[in-house]
Amino acid sequence: MSQSPNLEKALKYHFGYDNFRSGQRQVIEDALSNRDLLIIMPTGGGKSLCFQLPALIKKGLTVVVSPLIALMQDQVEALRKNGIAATFLNSSLNSYQTRSREQYILGGKVKLLYVAPERLLSERFLPFLDLVHHQVGISAIAIDEAHCVSEWGHDFRPEYRQLISLRKRYPDIPVWALTATATDRVRIDIIQQLGLKEASIHIASFNRQNLYYEVRTKKKNSYAELLELIRETEGSGIIYCLTRKKVDELTFKLQHDKVSVLPYHAGLTDEERSQNQTRFIRDDVRVMVATIAFGMGINKPDVRFVIHFDIPRNLESYYQESGRAGRDGEASRCTLFYSYGDVKTIEYLISQKSDPQEQLIAKQQLRQMIDYAEGTDCRRTIQLSYFGERFTGNCSNCDNCRHPKPVEDWTVEAMKFLSCVARCKEKFGMGHIIDVLRGAKTQKISQYEHDKLSTYGIGKDRGIEEWRLLGRSLLHQGLLEQTSDGYAVLKLNSLSWEVMRRQRQVSIAVPILQKITWNEETTK
Ligand code: ADP
Ligand code: ZN
Repeated sequence: MSQSPNLEKALKYHFGYDNFRSGQRQVIEDALSNRDLLIIMPTGGGKSLCFQLPALIKKGLTVVVSPLIALMQDQVEALRKNGIAATFLNSSLNSYQTRSREQYILGGKVKLLYVAPERLLSERFLPFLDLVHHQVGISAIAIDEAHCVSEWGHDFRPEYRQLISLRKRYPDIPVWALTATATDRVRIDIIQQLGLKEASIHIASFNRQNLYYEVRTKKKNSYAELLELIRETEGSGIIYCLTRKKVDELTFKLQHDKVSVLPYHAGLTDEERSQNQTRFIRDDVRVMVATIAFGMGINKPDVRFVIHFDIPRNLESYYQESGRAGRDGEASRCTLFYSYGDVKTIEYLISQKSDPQEQLIAKQQLRQMIDYAEGTDCRRTIQLSYFGERFTGNCSNCDNCRHPKPVEDWTVEAMKFLSCVARCKEKFGMGHIIDVLRGAKTQKISQYEHDKLSTYGIGKDRGIEEWRLLGRSLLHQGLLEQTSDGYAVLKLNSLSWEVMRRQRQVSIAVPILQKITWNEETTK
């Protein structure tokens, strides 16, 4: 297409950037060809530009559905600073302001209109939208944070389910769904729930090269380590804690130690929360101590560190939360403080859930989190394998790659392990496989007569933790699979068979002080 060079010009003209980031150009070309789109890019990947630039190039108005008022206001403010005709309609405006904005829109003076989903579907608003479509034309409907439509996502919002009525009302207007949530289930849900038609799907790599990942053992005196970490890192940061109480305690301690810090959690009033957030975004305050209530839509590109002082609930949340660091592409640090005491706390919380299916899934998610924290493989490899993305080699930007543990050849052990999975007919989880290998006498083993298998007891020479280390590493390296239904049943793949046929060597990194985390108490 001859329009290609013009895209760079338009980018420079409207946003002042010289080049597209990876993936942006293709998305924009598809957007201009009037297709439905599903855009999956990690936080900081530059999603907004993917709908903003086409909106400016196309005739008419692009409607942007955005879930949070604060986020909407930030984005519109930033666009207006660039001289872009953007505005929003939401409940923060009085009726006079609303009317005048509506007139402005009907006059064809606006290119991007941000609205909250509940407003979009209100009775008064839809006739207005019809009028806009008639007079100036609606060029596209962009749905930001589209994972909110899915119960499988981490931020389900029932209002999002109603958005399909827009597709039905305006079947010819392209719908562009955007999200940073990577799991397959959520993707499928977005397509179905929003009624996307032959959508062109763009999935960017989830590798955030500029983020340094590390896990530290949480000890009684970890507060001192935390303080040092904050002092030695420049710029803003977020510290996540599990509960409001912990947020308040830590804020208090840090304030006492003269760190510029404010709290954020659901126990504060709306006003306090939005004030604290604004002060953080404007660099009035350097550090935010928060529960996960502080999250989606924090549009601060220069967060230099994200510390999890308590274990996150699952790896996806960890990826998203730590991913709030370094959206500007500059080097940033993600630190997780891990202790077995925290695991016990979460296990207790899980046991309090009433729905057994929910319990099961939560347990498996916790297991994945433990596997990440105790893993000896590249942290990036572990995270990306969770999203089904393969990353091999040394990333040189995580603790495990920078300070590698000694690597040992465990091919023989891997063959024993995988054959045991095969003998058990790929119907069991890791705990049972290890029991069989070690020749344990459990009820389950006698029930299935697994003590008669040729692999029964062939792994007595190694401890449970060693087998777990191997199993975990096989999963991370993609040499073994696991179901995600909560049962975590181990399944073989073609690479597993290569190992069993001696066509592939297996090396694993062996920690020296592996036992250390198992006796740790939570810090108070
Ligand atoms: P996302 O919504 O995917 O998290 P944003 O759209 O907020 O990411 O973009 C993250 C940052 O990258 C923003 O500060 C944005 O201005 C910047 N950015 C986006 N595209 C480009 C580009 N092509 N060149 C330079 N900076 C860009
Ligand atoms: Zn690494």
